[in-house]
Amino acid sequence: MLSCHQATRLASDAQERPLTFKEKVSLKIHTMMCSGCRNFESSMNTLRKAMQGFASGDHKDITNNNTKKTMKKHE
Ligand SMILES: [Zn+2]
Repeated sequence: MLSCHQATRLASDAQERPLTFKEKVSLKIHTMMCSGCRNFESSMNTLRKAMQGFASGDHKDITNNNTKKTMKKHE
């Protein structure tokens, strides 16, 4: 049985590398029994989806910042 610390560590590792089968099972069992880590894992997944949207070109904030910088150069 994982501790909450280990479970959240695995959930964040899962964003960066594929978990081993054993790690996946351990994390799954922990999140089934622990609502805190279940929420953590689900917010990690939401964050990952947001980052994927960001990486695929949907980043209006950066575009706006660049536009502002460009406009300043022209002043
Ligand atoms: Zn936990």
